[in-house]
Amino acid sequence: MEYRRLGSAGLKVSALSYGSWVTYGSQVNVDLAVRCMKAAYDNGVNFFDNAEAYSSGKSEEIMGLALKKLGWRRSSYIVSTKVFWGLNDGPNEKNTLNRKYLMESIDGSLKRLDMDHVDLLYCHRPDPETPIEEVVFAMSDIIATGKAHYWGTSEWSAAEIMEAWQIAERHHLRKPQMEQPQYNLLTRDRVEKEYARLYEDIGLGLTTWSPLASGLLSGKYNDGIPEGSRLSLKGYAWLKDGVLTPERIESVKKLGKIAADLGVTTAQLTLAWTAGNPRVSSVITGASRPEQVVENMKAFELISKLDDGARKEIEGLFQ
Ligand code: NDP
Repeated sequence: MEYRRLGSAGLKVSALSYGSWVTYGSQVNVDLAVRCMKAAYDNGVNFFDNAEAYSSGKSEEIMGLALKKLGWRRSSYIVSTKVFWGLNDGPNEKNTLNRKYLMESIDGSLKRLDMDHVDLLYCHRPDPETPIEEVVFAMSDIIATGKAHYWGTSEWSAAEIMEAWQIAERHHLRKPQMEQPQYNLLTRDRVEKEYARLYEDIGLGLTTWSPLASGLLSGKYNDGIPEGSRLSLKGYAWLKDGVLTPERIESVKKLGKIAADLGVTTAQLTLAWTAGNPRVSSVITGASRPEQVVENMKAFELISKLDDGARKEIEGLFQ
């Protein structure tokens, strides 16, 4: 495994990491989480991603219990959580980044994870109704308490990230260090174009999500929707409608041919392409089974073998 700096920060994250969206609390219980996380850790993963909203808080509880069972040194791994959507319906408890919510939500997350700190804390989405200055002061104060070590954003625009950074600079506060955007062969603009200046200008690190576009880019949907797969789950019809198109399936089949020629799986080729972007600090992978984790982590060996020509050929399939 390769460990990359989180942008300009000293913290090093594994180039491939492992997160719990959809899976923990619906497909993955504590015992399965132990097996998946162990498979990841044994393959060099040091970063585990989570969020308050995942399975309405259950995902944090499961990861916390799994980590207790695994008994690893706390300093050997990085845990994140993300806040914004909230778990309750009150006007100050959902879809907000106001100070009251932020100060209380970190306590809730730490309680569910049964930890005294997370390493990374993200604002899961921008909140147009709270001044960015209020958010920056609150996140900076959370860092100062030691309840989180670094803070960042998820799916904020470049302008919003820059504004937050400048407010922090002006007031000598803790700056946003990382963004968590979607990045895969189907969704590239934000990482490759919109954020382009932020990497050098403010040292932004990236931990990217849905590298396989919920599994589509592994080729698993080439011949229909397998039972038990994410797109077959109740409540995820919206994802199916958004992800599966005949054109994309055709492209994924072609990607599968390139992968077969290289002697790797389609998922491994996709992940290696994603992690091959040097702006990406860590590609957050998802998996519902330890076998997927093991397969996915082997993508690491392929990263350095994909030259510019191979990357262009792969990208050409999805344009
Ligand atoms: P992917 O796009 O990689 O999808 C993961 C899913 O694909 C798995 O759960 C599994 O689903 C399937 N899969 C994984 N590996 C394989 C394989 N080798 N062969 C076949 N199928 C495979 O990632 P996610 O969408 O899960 O996103 C990764 C992480 O990013 C999340 O866990 C979360 O931590 C983070 N995230 C953050 C967001 C944000 O807004 N900040 C939004 C979304 C995710 P199955 O077996 O069920 O079919």
